Formats: sequence, C-alpha cells, structure tokens
Amino acid sequence: AAELYIVPTPIGNLNDISQRALDTLREVDLIACEDTRHTGKLLSHYQIGTPTWALHDHNEQYKAEQLVGRLLNGQRIALVSDAGTPLISDPGYHLVNRCREAGIRVVALPGPCAAVAALSAAGLPTDRFVFEGFLPAKEKARFDKLESLKEEPRTMVFYESPRRLLGTVAALVEVMGRERRLVVARELTKTFESIQGLPAAEMLTWLGEDDNRCRGEIVLMVAGHQADGESLPAEALRTLALLRAELP
Ligand code: SAM
Repeated sequence: AAELYIVPTPIGNLNDISQRALDTLREVDLIACEDTRHTGKLLSHYQIGTPTWALHDHNEQYKAEQLVGRLLNGQRIALVSDAGTPLISDPGYHLVNRCREAGIRVVALPGPCAAVAALSAAGLPTDRFVFEGFLPAKEKARFDKLESLKEEPRTMVFYESPRRLLGTVAALVEVMGRERRLVVARELTKTFESIQGLPAAEMLTWLGEDDNRCRGEIVLMVAGHQADGESLPAEALRTLALLRAELP
C-alpha cells in the first residue's frame, strides 16, 4: 500500500540510525532526499541499494506532485534529509501536506534531531520550549526577532550559523540583558562536541576568546524570561501582600 516514511538520519555520528530506519530504507521502492550524493554516502556505508531521488527546496512543490503520483500507484517511499529529522528546518513540508490531503499514509520514524539532542543536555527547563529554527540573516530583522522574544517565558531553541553566532550573542546581551542564561551546543555527536552554558555577557567574552568556539554546527538555546513580581496575576499579588503582612 502507498506509504510515505519520514526517516531521520544521523547528525554526525553514523551509528545514530535505528534498525527500523535501516530496514525501511532497504525495503522502500524509492528514497526522496535533499542531495543524492550526500545520502548516497550513508546508503553505501550501510550497503543499501535503494534508488534515490532529489527533492530540492526550490522545486519541492513540483517534485512533491510527482512523488504523490508514484505513491498513488502503490509505491513505498522514504523521505530523508541531509541530517537529522526531515521537515525540521529541512524540506518535506509540501510533500507531507500533499500526501495527507491525498489520503496517503504518512509514517514518522523517531530519530536524531539536533534541537532535541541539544535541549536534552543543556540544563535549561525543558517542560516547555519553543523551536525558532534559523534567525533571519539580516541584522535588523534578526534584532527585531529577538526583541519580539524578549519576554518569551519558555526556553528558546535556535539553529545558528558559525558566522553569525557572535553577532547573535551580542544582540542577545543587548536585548535580553547580560544575565540571561545561554547554552551553545556545538558539533553534537561528533569529535569536537561541546556544550557550554553561561550568562549572555560571559558567553560573548568566552566565544570571543577562541575562534574554535564558534566553529561547526551550532544549536543556541536561550533561557526563558523569568516573570518578576510585577507580572504575577493580581490575585496572586494580593495573596502575597496578605502573607507578607503576617510575617514577623
Ligand atoms: N533536520 C535537522 C535536525 O533534525 O536537526 C536540522 C537541519 S538544519 C538545515 C541544520 C542545522 O541544524 C545546523 O546549521 C545546526 O544549527 C543544526 N545541527 C545539525 N547537526 C548538528 C550537530 N551535530 N550539532 C549541533 N547542531 C547541529
């Protein structure tokens, strides 16, 4: 039966692929990917001979229609991206959306995702978080975006390019203050993996001290805004005032 499988692939360490992901990649009729050469390396490492097909970002809508056609003819197709979970700051949205509209079953395999891996080791609250993906490339737009997130109470997760990390951290110091807690997770699952947590101003200094600290693939996390007394609900403030009056 027509089925589309969403298959996460490693974000650095080739061993981070599930048995089910390998079985699926082996059994499907076609693997839709971002870059056939990149995915080809993974497939040859695991001696998987399934044909691949490029689903580029710029022509994804057109390519998605062609894949839906194949699925409706009964083919089984897997979707992978260069690394991590497809659709998470990666192509696949149009395809999945079209498949669901067409009544094609979409099966998600769980697996590597840089944002989730980073968050799980950052030591910031994880009960609630927001994934913001990549910030805008232009300085003004990036600054405005951070400004709009100033009072976000949940932990924020960003994907950041090594070239822009320092600028973004400088903007964070300005917008969210010197004390806001930041965590930079770099090169996760790879040889030079590092996870550093510091208040924003100290992070800026620390990153500036050594170019290597900005290199590679980066997830930047920002602690949520901590509500102070002023932003408690009126009811809570009244209770607090009553309790204070009772204290010696
Ligand atoms: N779909 C992927 C996922 O599930 O994480 C993300 C794809 S996005 C195009 C690539 C970005 O993810 C990188 O620029 C970096 O911000 C982050 N990333 C990917 N691999 C990483 C790693 N090993 N360590 C830290 N960040 C990583």
